[in-house]
Amino acid sequence: MKSTKQPQPTVFIIFGGTGDLAWRKLAPALYNLYLDGWMPEHFSIIGTGRTQLSDDQFREKLLEGIDQFSRSGKAKADQWAIFSKNIYYQVSDLKDAKTYHELGARIESYEAEWNEKADLIYYLAVAPNFFPIIADNIAKKCPKEGMDRTRIVIEKPFGHDLESAKALNKQLQGIFDETQIYRIDHYLGKETVQNIMAFRFANALLEPIWNRNYIDHVQISVTEQLGVEDRGGYYDGAGAMRDMVQNHILQLLCLIAMEPPINLDADEIRNRRVDVLRSMRRFDADAIRFSAVRGQYGHGWIEGKEVPGYREEPEVNPESNTETFAAVKFFVDNWRWQDVPFYLRTGKHLNQSASVISIQFKNIPHSIFPPEAAENWQQNRLVFSIQPEMSIRLQMQAKRPGLDMTLNPVDLVFDYSGTYHGKPPEAYETLLLDTMMGDQTLFMRSDQVEAAWELIMPILHAWESKKSLSFPNYPAGSWGPENAEALIAQDGFHWFTLPVNGKHG
Ligand code: NAP
Repeated sequence: MKSTKQPQPTVFIIFGGTGDLAWRKLAPALYNLYLDGWMPEHFSIIGTGRTQLSDDQFREKLLEGIDQFSRSGKAKADQWAIFSKNIYYQVSDLKDAKTYHELGARIESYEAEWNEKADLIYYLAVAPNFFPIIADNIAKKCPKEGMDRTRIVIEKPFGHDLESAKALNKQLQGIFDETQIYRIDHYLGKETVQNIMAFRFANALLEPIWNRNYIDHVQISVTEQLGVEDRGGYYDGAGAMRDMVQNHILQLLCLIAMEPPINLDADEIRNRRVDVLRSMRRFDADAIRFSAVRGQYGHGWIEGKEVPGYREEPEVNPESNTETFAAVKFFVDNWRWQDVPFYLRTGKHLNQSASVISIQFKNIPHSIFPPEAAENWQQNRLVFSIQPEMSIRLQMQAKRPGLDMTLNPVDLVFDYSGTYHGKPPEAYETLLLDTMMGDQTLFMRSDQVEAAWELIMPILHAWESKKSLSFPNYPAGSWGPENAEALIAQDGFHWFTLPVNGKHG
């Protein structure tokens, strides 16, 4: 496919070019953008890191990543040969001023060769403690006259708490305009997540029932079978609330709960998302006890394989108080959603990996059917499966064929793989293209990040100030701690079984 719109000439600088993110996500995404005709005629990708590599060695490393992780499969030699000519590597230490002078000189040399000015995208694929150092150095040492063509992409985590997020925002906004700052939450780039907007706002059918009059409650589950793997060092200082709820899950909630925007302008949509965060009910100490549950996995079994408990994982404190599971009940206090509970749960080493949003509608007001007709009665439910299954299902009651009137639930299904051919773009493709195009719709604005932190800080304070005596409180391979069941059961509900390979349990 050849695109109709094309980004400006671009120099793409990846700080952390030798890291995991660049290898698994960024290089495959840029390569697929190139294959699909989205890259500008003139572009350069400069990776940086302390590892001693030549340009060719760096290209080889990225090719390995592309061959393993690209949705389009292994790179073809002729296409790779053309694409890889645009890739360079610079050995450099982020703390050394020389790094930025050298980058500046490279940028100027590409622009001279192309005889045109380029957009400069600095991608910070490094540990968060480097974010302020890099931003400061870009401002001081990189070409001054290129500042208005500069964009800076910041990976998660954006801050460790409200205070540090505010400090980072303040620092970045002292150097860049907000329109130049791209805070990534890669969930927003996922095809299925973007489709929530399309589904809600391109269909007249849903809006009249998308409110407290018809919706009983909402469940958002983002569950992982994987444990912390080799990220114990990072994760032990973060936990499930910071790693998943503050960013990905609250953004999913915003897409479900937001008011219709008047158009697709980035700030219009981001205003509507931030309105949701601002409307969410705050937690006091009592509310936290009844509205939030934490868990930590102990030793257990995942698909027949024995796995250690969290406290035995590498680089994890053997007495760690870090939660690997969180379930929270939120409310959005506005006309549309007053008193509709939004239940969120996320965790590591759970029974299954899936990201699913379920909208549970209220029951019919009066049944004309005898009780025996409804063998398996289920209120209508709309289920957005984000991953691994990519589908939208509307669960209805229908008559089972036969001479008697027997009702059972059936699914009206929109399944991506059955409807469209080929694999949809990866989230990072969408987000990198948007960065090149200067479209910030799918990126987090400073006020969104801060509003999300503000909301969860009381829970974090409560959990951090009081060590859990029950950890570990769920075995790896289970569905989390019993208290998470109680959290939802106290309101008369239960966690829904998640769809697996087209089946709904
Ligand atoms: P990583 O594999 O540990 O890579 C870190 C990178 O930083 C390496 O390229 C390393 O290069 C470079 N680096 C470290 N110290 C340096 C220094 N003093 N000077 C120059 N370069 C230095 O980390 P990652 O997994 O790619 O993650 C990068 C960022 O993305 C983190 O903020 C992470 O939270 C975020 N993130 C990652 C993922 C993911 O899937 N990996 C997902 C979401 C967010 P050398 O070793 O060559 O110096």
